[in-house]
Order: sequence, then structure tokens, then C-alpha cells
Amino acid sequence: MFDVTKRPYINGKPEFWITGIKIETNGFKRYKCRYYCECGHKGSHYIPLGIPQIECHECDYHIQVLPAGRVGRDGIPKRDKQGAFYIAHARM
Ligand SMILES: [Zn+2]
Repeated sequence: MFDVTKRPYINGKPEFWITGIKIETNGFKRYKCRYYCECGHKGSHYIPLGIPQIECHECDYHIQVLPAGRVGRDGIPKRDKQGAFYIAHARM
């Protein structure tokens, strides 16, 4: 899992709260994805760029992942107002 303890703090907050990016000790980056599941659970996953779906923490339902904003040439979506790079909404 993530070892965020070695990452810097920004204004007293963990780096990923600000940047929306968790960086693993080997340098691999995961990007914030807000998700809303059909079971009513919602939360945040930190996911690699470009993965098609995530699983709900509560019910293991697979939810399709979409970029939160326009995807740049570097393959990274623009962040939305909540700081997410990706949004996953379960179809009801
Ligand atoms: Zn669920």
C-alpha cells in the first residue's frame, strides 16, 4: 500500500490532500478518483492513469471511470472543483 509518511506535508496537510496525487515509494503515481456506488457508498480511490473501472470498497461493484475534465497531452485529466482527476458514477 501507500507509504505517505515519507512524503512532504504542505501547510500541515499531507501532500496528496493538496495535489490529489499519491506517490508510492518507487515513484509510481496514483490520481484521485471520486466514486459514487449504487450501494450508496461514496469515497475516493487513488488510481493509475487510464484505468477503465474501479471497485467499490463496500460491495465490490465495478464502476466505470471517466476523466473529471479534459485529458491533456500528458494523459492527465484536468481536476474538477473537488480536486478529482477521475469520476466514477455507478449507473442506477
Ligand atoms: Zn458499493
